[in-house]
Amino acid sequence: MFMAKLREAVICFKAGRVTLPYPAAPHDPEPGFRGKITIDPDLCFGCGGCANVCPAGVIFLHDAEQHARILELHWSRCTYCGRCAEVCPEDAIALTQMFETATDRAEDMVISLKVFMGPCQRCGRCFLPPTVLDQMDVAGFHEAGGGRP
Ligand code: SF4
Ligand code: SF4
Repeated sequence: MFMAKLREAVICFKAGRVTLPYPAAPHDPEPGFRGKITIDPDLCFGCGGCANVCPAGVIFLHDAEQHARILELHWSRCTYCGRCAEVCPEDAIALTQMFETATDRAEDMVISLKVFMGPCQRCGRCFLPPTVLDQMDVAGFHEAGGGRP
């Protein structure tokens, strides 16, 4: 019995360390690791493609007002499949390397984004003006009641 334990100890010493020192030391995930999702407010134009494909029902969209669409990502349900990032035409969604996401606050698990939208001058439905200057021009146009100011 003692000799068996001694043999085991010798084998362990020879093998060296086989576990990671984390959490005593920081750990960098491997390349390609899929962690917490992030969304770039400068790139997202509120098309809803990500919400359509998300198998876990993480992403919700609603039009808050005529010029604003709200995106909410309830990412506690996220399975980190990466489908949303694949389909986003603007590469606005990415899966980061962040994995230390434990929290005791439910609000930490929701990402909210307000996307500025301009209403079509014919049908009144939202679209995103192409440039910031165009956005300044279009905002308020619909309420002004018809003509370009
Ligand atoms: S993140 Fe991408 S796919 Fe999702 S609404 Fe924004 S632009 Fe569309
Ligand atoms: S990574 Fe997958 S589960 Fe998570 S939000 Fe994107 S599509 Fe949904």
